[in-house]
Amino acid sequence: MLVAHRIRLDPNNVQATYLGRAAGTARFAYNWALNEWQRQYEACKTNPALPKPSEAALRRLLNSIKRKQFPWMLEVTKNAPQLAIMQLGQAFENFFAGRARYPRFRKKGRGDRFSLTNDKFRVEGRSIRIPKLGWVRMRETLRFSGRIVSASVARVAGHWYASITVDTSDSTQPPAENQGAVGMDVGITSLATLSTGEAFEGPKALRNLLTRLRRLSRALSRKVKGSCNRAKAKLKLARLHARIANVRRDSLHQLSNSITRRFHTIGIENLNVMGMLGNRHLARAIADMGFYELRRQLEYKAAWRGGQVVLADRWFPSSKLCSCCGYHLEALDLDVRHWTCPGCGSSNDRDVNAAINLRNMAVSSTASACGGEGSGLAREREAKPAPTKQEFNGKVKTAGFA
Ligand SMILES: [Zn+2]
Repeated sequence: MLVAHRIRLDPNNVQATYLGRAAGTARFAYNWALNEWQRQYEACKTNPALPKPSEAALRRLLNSIKRKQFPWMLEVTKNAPQLAIMQLGQAFENFFAGRARYPRFRKKGRGDRFSLTNDKFRVEGRSIRIPKLGWVRMRETLRFSGRIVSASVARVAGHWYASITVDTSDSTQPPAENQGAVGMDVGITSLATLSTGEAFEGPKALRNLLTRLRRLSRALSRKVKGSCNRAKAKLKLARLHARIANVRRDSLHQLSNSITRRFHTIGIENLNVMGMLGNRHLARAIADMGFYELRRQLEYKAAWRGGQVVLADRWFPSSKLCSCCGYHLEALDLDVRHWTCPGCGSSNDRDVNAAINLRNMAVSSTASACGGEGSGLAREREAKPAPTKQEFNGKVKTAGFA
C-alpha cells in the first residue's frame, strides 16, 4: 500500500531559490508540453498521417531541444521537467477517462511543485538529498518504513514541503484491539458518532480560525490590486488556509486512528460527496468535515491492521430504521434529534441509532460475504443512478426512496 508523509522543509536561502527554480522549470515544461500537445493535436486533425501527441514523445522532443533552447533547465534536476510532462500525460488520461477536466496551464504561485523519482533522492534521518542541491533539513523524520517510491516538493503558503511516498506493503501493524464491529455516523454538528454512543466533536480551534479567515479575506478585498500590502495580506490568508487544513487533517487522523486501533470491522455510510458539494450553502461545512478524506484514512488504516471498512448502500435508511426492532419510519424530519419508535417504544438518539444500524449492516454483510459471492442487502451496489434527494439538518447524508 502506498502512503505519503508530508514533511516541512527548512531550506536556507540558497536552497529555497533552487527549489523555486526547480518548481518553475516543472511548470515551464508542463505548459510547454500542453501547448505542444494542442498544436500536434490540431496538426493531426488536418493531416491524419501525423502521429497523435503522447507524453513519451513530448519528453523525447524536449530532451532533444533543451540543451539549445532552454539551457537553464540543466541547472536543476532533470526529474523536474520530465515528471511534469508525465503528469500531463496522466492528466490527459484522466480527462479521456472522464475523471477530470481538460488539463489547464499551470500558473506561477499556484501549486508550485516538482517531483522526484526514488533513484534521484535519499532520505537520512532529518535530511533529504535533492540532486544538484545537496542535503536539505526536514522538520521531522520519515514516519513510515518501507520502500520509498517517490517524492514531490511543493510550496504551500510560502513554506516548502516534501511529500514522500512509501510502499508499506511489507510493514505490519498489530491487529485491532477489539475484534468487533463498529458503526460510524458522520455529521456536521459533531464530527462523528459511534454505535458505542461515543461522539467525536470537531476541533474547536477550527471555529476561531474560520472567524479569522472571514476577517482576513475581507481585509484582502479592500487592498489595492498590485500593491505591496495586498501581497502581504494574500500570504497571510494563504498561511491561515494552510493552518486550517492542517488542523482539520489532524482531527481526522486522530479519529481514524482511534477507530481502526480499536475495531476490526467499520460500517460507514456511502456519502455522495460530489452531489453534496453542488449545494452552495453546505459546501463549506462538508468540505470542512472532509468526509472523503476520513473514509480514505479509515480504509488504508484498517487495511494495515487486517481490518475492513464496509460501505452502506446509498439508499440504506440508516437514520429511519429502529435499531432495536427494525421498524422503518416513513419520514424523519431533519431537525429531529430524538424519536420514539412506534413499533417497540424505544427512544432513539438520531445519530447513535444510525450508527448502530450501520454496525449491524457491516456485521450482516461480512457474515454473508463469508458464505460466498452473496453480499448483504444493504451492501453498496454499483449500478444505481445517482441519488437526487438529500437530507440536511446539521447532518448530511443522501436518502433515496427509503
Ligand atoms: Zn423499534
